[in-house]
Amino acid sequence: MSKCVYCGERSGFFGRVCGDCKKLLARVQQLRGKVSYGQFLDGLEQTGVNKEKILIFLQADPDGKGSVQDQVTAEMTTELMNVMGISGRQTPEEVKRIRGLVDKDSE
Ligand SMILES: [Zn+2]
Repeated sequence: MSKCVYCGERSGFFGRVCGDCKKLLARVQQLRGKVSYGQFLDGLEQTGVNKEKILIFLQADPDGKGSVQDQVTAEMTTELMNVMGISGRQTPEEVKRIRGLVDKDSE
């Protein structure tokens, strides 16, 4: 049995992502770039996956490119910057870096 790369639960014999996280990933693709962060979280909850697992899923970083949360935050920030007329792009790496600094401060 392999483990799910997102939540660490057993993912069964097929693939590296468990059924719940597959559902969440599909929903992320549907919602990203279209809704606010609050609506995004609501949409994830509507999959019926429990909240704790959603949080674990959002913070997982299986490819080392930034967690799902960081990627979505980066996209939303980039969009917001464009709306406000600021050019540039926020990358998941940058969000991760900033969050790292904030986390350090709060310790
Ligand atoms: Zn999973």
